[in-house]
Parts: sequence; structure tokens; C-alpha cells
Amino acid sequence: MEESFNPFKIAQQQLGEAASALGLDAATHELLRWPMHEIKVTLPVRMDDGSTRIFHAFRVQYNTARGPAKGGIRWHPQETIDTVRALAAWMTWKTAVVDIPLGGGKGGVVCNPKELSETEKERLARAYIRALARSMGGARDVPAPDVYTTPQIMAWMMDEYETIVGESHPGVITGKPVALGGSQGRGDATARGGIYVTREAATAHNVDLTGGAMAVMGFGNAGQHAALLGEEILGLRLIAASDSKGGVLNPGGIDTKTLIEFKRKTGMLRGFPGAEPISNEDLLEQEVAVLFPAALENVITRENAPRIRCRICCELANGPTTPEADVILAEKGIIVLPDFLANAGGVTVSYFEQVQNAYNLYWELQEVHWRLDKKMTRAFASVLEMSRRSRIGLRQAAYLVAVARVAEACKLRGWV
Ligand code: NAD
Repeated sequence: MEESFNPFKIAQQQLGEAASALGLDAATHELLRWPMHEIKVTLPVRMDDGSTRIFHAFRVQYNTARGPAKGGIRWHPQETIDTVRALAAWMTWKTAVVDIPLGGGKGGVVCNPKELSETEKERLARAYIRALARSMGGARDVPAPDVYTTPQIMAWMMDEYETIVGESHPGVITGKPVALGGSQGRGDATARGGIYVTREAATAHNVDLTGGAMAVMGFGNAGQHAALLGEEILGLRLIAASDSKGGVLNPGGIDTKTLIEFKRKTGMLRGFPGAEPISNEDLLEQEVAVLFPAALENVITRENAPRIRCRICCELANGPTTPEADVILAEKGIIVLPDFLANAGGVTVSYFEQVQNAYNLYWELQEVHWRLDKKMTRAFASVLEMSRRSRIGLRQAAYLVAVARVAEACKLRGWV
């Protein structure tokens, strides 16, 4: 049978397995299989040369039983409604597994940000909010950054929303710059959460990570911070990293800070002195203690899974492993930290940002780190406990914990 790469079909398949393990009734399962609300908008945007371009964009509010929809906005040329639906479903399970009072949502704009000037990005960001403002708000739906969207883009979006409603509403969007009500510690939160979960998993499985190698696919926000914190907190050393243009490898070790500076200056990793070029495919197959897929979906498939040689795979990206590949990794004894648990640090600090905005009172960085560590450690412990009690893998255990919580909220509301 052909392997499915449609992320929404994969999300539905993963939910299906959880629904049968939990013995969910048919109505609850069907409710959780679909977004409760999805919006398609068409955005005319003036380009710098005076022409008008039309952009297609989406917002999916998947499930709001546990609280307002929450999820990033991705700008990508290959964005589709099914990708946004899958990401919104995973957000629903993510907020539930870390037990924060939010639902799941996601947004997407079909565009190539690399071809847009800063002023064109600003007009596109504002157009997106004008089209969707009525469906947004701290009590409805709160967006955040995702692939190729930044704190600056969040700042323009917040400003547009506040201009429309005529009041201050910093909590309408998270991942803002700190100067505009963003939280300390949001920048590295996704990676930091993943590192805390990796630490807990290593302890639970008696794996000593000190001095071990790590490889990072996708050297962006999540990937760069994973490399920095992997070194700082876990004592790992970076041997390979890649981005959309290819990667670099040095089995003797790569200095992360110098590599980040090189990418900032040149816009790529290729050509980094003292390292050899490596393809994204080969990077995944390096022998490492921890592999961080931190780019896009479906990069570990049944084709390359037999050649993956890490001890722990910390899924910072959403949906990097197909269900068929998952089975193969489990047979090989690889500890896979599932995406919606491993990368939940971002939404957790986004939630902290909303709380601080609501109180108009801001926390020190140490307080953010301490609270994040507590949330991630507790979430991992409940998933590990479920995995051991039910003799299932961590991904399935994370699904059981999260889906049971969302199903309970739907029942308590009298929806099913
Ligand atoms: P980003 O835009 O900062 O970085 C993405 C990186 O991936 C870039 O370096 C890009 O060059 C690289 N990339 C793109 N296509 C690639 C390819 N085909 N092969 C290899 N590299 C490729 O995005 P980010 O915020 O770091 O997000 C990365 C992943 O983490 C996504 O799956 C996102 O959904 C997930 N995630 C991010 C956050 C967050 O808070 N930033 C939270 C949860 C999950």
C-alpha cells in the first residue's frame, strides 16, 4: 500500500488509534476527527511595484472545548488546507497534553516569504488580520508565529487588530517582541521544552547524553535553539545541521554559535568553514545520541526509517515521522519524543504570555524557565506513566492522555 503523506490523513489515523484504545463513542470520535470551524480568505495585497497580488490564506479553529483556539500562522509556498487542519488538530492535542486551558487552531498563508520585501510582508500580515479580525481575540482565537513568521510579523498583526477594535489587546496574539508585551523566554521556548523532555526521557531510560552527538534538521528558530540548549543543558555536541538549502557535517563537532553567525551573515549553512556538505537525507541517517527534526512534515518515512541511527528522536517539527516509519523506529528501540509533546514549550510560553498580558504584569526570565520546566516535566511524567501502564509507545500514550482530556471537556459541555 502507498504511504500517505497527507498530514491531515495522518492526524486522523493517529486519532483513530487513540479513539479505539480509549473506547471513545462514535460521536465523540467523529467530532474530534474534524475542525469545528475553518475559514478560507482571499487577500489582495499591493506589491512594492504598484501591482496587486492575490494570496490565499486559511485559519482553522479545530476544537475549543478546553479554551480559545491557539496556534501559529505559517507562511509557506506549499501550504494547503489539509496541512493547516493537521497542524490545528495537533495543537488541540498539544495544549491538552501540557494541560493548559486552550484549544487548538492554526493559520496558513500560501506565499513565498523569501520573495517578499519587508513592506510587502507588513501589508500581507495586516491584510490577514483585516480578513479574520472578527473571528479572533483573546477569548476566541489567539495566533502566534510558525514557519517563516516572526515576532515582527506578530507585532504588525497585533497593531492591525488594535487599530480595528480601537483598544489595547496585546493578548490577541503571542510571540510578540518583548517591547510590545511579549514574554521573556518565548524565543527559545519550543526548543527549551524539547530539551527538558529529552532530559526526562534520558533519565527515565537510563541514557547518558553527556558528550553525545546531536544532529539538527532545520536550522531555524527551533533548530538553532535546540543546538544551543542541547549543549548547555544536556552536554551534547553538534555534529550536523541543515536548512532548506542543504547541510554541513563535522563528526569532530561544530561550534553552534559560529554556525548561527555564519547563517545570519550568508543566509545559508553550506560553505561553513571546517565542515563538509551533507544533504538533508544523509543528515537524518547520522549516528547520534539525539536527532532533532526541526523543519517540516514527513521527513522520516518507511523508506529511510531503517537507516535512522539515533538513540532519541526529539520531534521539534510537527509531523516529521509517518505512521509506518514510527513502527520501524519503535522496532529499532529508538525513543521517539512525539511532536505535540516535544514541541509544546512554544505554546506553553505563549500561554504564559497571554497570562502576563491579561494581568499587565511581567515575569522575570527565570520564572518563565522554572514554570516551563514544571509543565514539561509533568506532561512527560503523565505520558510515561500511561506508556508504562498500557505498554504502548510514547506517541500513542501522549495521544491517549491528550484525547481523553479533550473528550472529557466535550462531554462536560454536553456536546456529545
Ligand atoms: P523557522 O522558519 O524559524 O525555521 C525553519 C527552518 O527549516 C529554516 O531554517 C528552513 O531553512 C528549514 N527548512 C525548510 N524546509 C526545509 C527542508 N525541506 N529541509 C531542511 N530544512 C528545511 O521555523 P520554526 O519556527 O523553527 O519551525 C520549525 C518546525 O518547528 C515546524 O515544523 C514548526 O511547526 C515547528 N514548531 C515551531 C514552534 C515555534 O514556536 N517556532 C512551535 C512548535 C512547533
